[in-house]
Order: sequence, then structure tokens, then C-alpha cells
Amino acid sequence: MPVLTHPAELRLWCERVRASGLTVGLVPTMGALHAGHLSLIRRARAECDRTVVSIFVNPTQFAPGEDFERYPRTPAADLALCEAEGVGMVYLPPAEAVYPEGFATRVRVVGPVAETLEGAHRPGHLEGVATVVAKLLIAARPDRAYFGRKDAQQCALVRRLARDLDVGTTVVECETVRDPDGLALSSRNGYLDAAARAQALAIPAALAAAARLHEAGERDASRLIEAAVRRLAESPALSVDYAAAVDPDTFEPLATVTGRCGIVIAARIAGTRLIDSVMLGADAGLAIGNVGCPSPRP
Ligand code: AMP
Repeated sequence: MPVLTHPAELRLWCERVRASGLTVGLVPTMGALHAGHLSLIRRARAECDRTVVSIFVNPTQFAPGEDFERYPRTPAADLALCEAEGVGMVYLPPAEAVYPEGFATRVRVVGPVAETLEGAHRPGHLEGVATVVAKLLIAARPDRAYFGRKDAQQCALVRRLARDLDVGTTVVECETVRDPDGLALSSRNGYLDAAARAQALAIPAALAAAARLHEAGERDASRLIEAAVRRLAESPALSVDYAAAVDPDTFEPLATVTGRCGIVIAARIAGTRLIDSVMLGADAGLAIGNVGCPSPRP
């Protein structure tokens, strides 16, 4: 399994695959791979002839004071996992290959999908994501690129960006993989001690509360959010950045749920910021079935 480190090598490798009539699936990650990432890789392997995994802790999507320096980095383990999963190539560039001296371009998506919620709470974050993902899509020109629904706003942003920049890539949104207790797998979960983790379980429980209410027929978005917020409040150490019901494509807030609706939550616990989401509506059965949240408390 080749490990390439320069954008020109990424482009050439993918060009060769396409020239031989095969399809390319791209799985962008920041490494510290876990079962959530593996589910994306497996889906890419199932749907594409060759799978490329990129591993890059992207400095431009971290604001000053965030966890860029301490973000987990486990390249040897990541490469072993990719090899075992039958990945065709890993792209593992150093920062100076992605952002060489003189780099001066930013990709900025506008509108609620980029400016609300994560956009408002982490200034510059989504611009950093858009810039690095645009670079990957332009260099690799994958047939399909795989993203996790846990980061629902990122998925919507990348869908918008891929459409607007005519890269010809289908963006595939994959269901969230959770631990048996309901917590969405995240490279940042390692920051949590047992007490913080117990408090963090209110996040999937809050999503499940909103999903249950929706399943029972509630269509007033504010009631769904009230139910989620009530559940979050049972974990007093959790500081909630937002809990919102949004159109999953535009990220405009919803007043009434008539079709698909994303319930999105961001909260901080003991210095760690966690985000999670659930999709209600057309594929609600799938979404709720996968929430893996503890069953309703008696
Ligand atoms: P990250 O390495 O955290 O930037 O994540 C890389 C990709 O994996 C993103 O598209 C994430 O949404 C996705 N991902 C992260 N955690 C999970 C999870 N628990 N289930 C499914 N996908 C995930």
C-alpha cells in the first residue's frame, strides 16, 4: 500500500487509476482512526474500485487556543489499519506540502450552511475545512467522497462545495458509528475521563429524546429541541453551545418539521467540545436505529 506525501503524487496516482477505467473513493480524515472512520473506508471499498484515505491534521481548521497541538496523532497504527482494510493508497502529507510558502487561497462557502452553528461558534473552522477538502477534491477528483453524519454541517458544506465547484464528485454521507453506550465515536473522546464521559452521554440521549418525540408525531421543532435541552440539562457539567433543528442541506433553522430534519448538538465538557447529530424524516428509521442510544428511561 503506497503512502504518498505530496499533492502532485496524489493527483498522479488517482489519474492513473481513472485512466485504467477504475473508480476512486476518497475518505478524508485527520487520523487517529477508529471504527467510525473504518465504516467510511468499508463503504468506499464496497462502492469504488480503489480507496484513498487521506490523513492530515489540518491546521487551518483549528482556531488559536483549540486542540491542534494535542490532537491525537497515531500514524503507524493508522497505516496498519488501512493496510488491513485493503485501502489502495494513503495520502499523508506534511503541512508544508499542503500549505507551501506563499499559500494565500481560502475557500469560503456562504450562507447558513457555513455561517450558523459551527460557523458561528468556531470562526474560521469551516473555511479551513472547505479549503482543505476543495484541495483534496481538485487533486484526487474522486468519483465518490465519504463523510460522517456525526459532522452533519460539514457534510452539508462539502455537498454544497462539491456542487458549486463542479468537481464531479458524489458526496456520500455515512451513518454515525457509536459506542454501545450511545456516545458517537470521536478521536476527541480520548480526552474524556470516566466522569466527563458519563456526562457526555446526555448528548446522544438528548438526540434520542428528540427522535422519539418526532416518531410519536411531534412536528413543532421548538418542542423537539425543548425535549433535547431538558435531557442535556440533566448533565450539569455539560455546557451547551447549541441544540437546533435544521434543514440538513441548507442548515436553515426549521420551525415545523415537514420532511427531513437534522437535530444537531454541540456541547463542551471538561474542556472537550463534542458534536453529534441525528436525522429525522425520510431515513429516520435508519438514523434512530443507529443512534444506539440507551433505551428510554422508565
Ligand atoms: P475526523 O478524522 O474526525 O476529521 O473525521 C474524518 C471523517 O470521519 C469525517 O467525515 C467524520 O464525519 C467521520 N467520522 C468521525 N467520527 C465518526 C463516527 N463516529 N461515525 C461515522 N463517521 C465518523
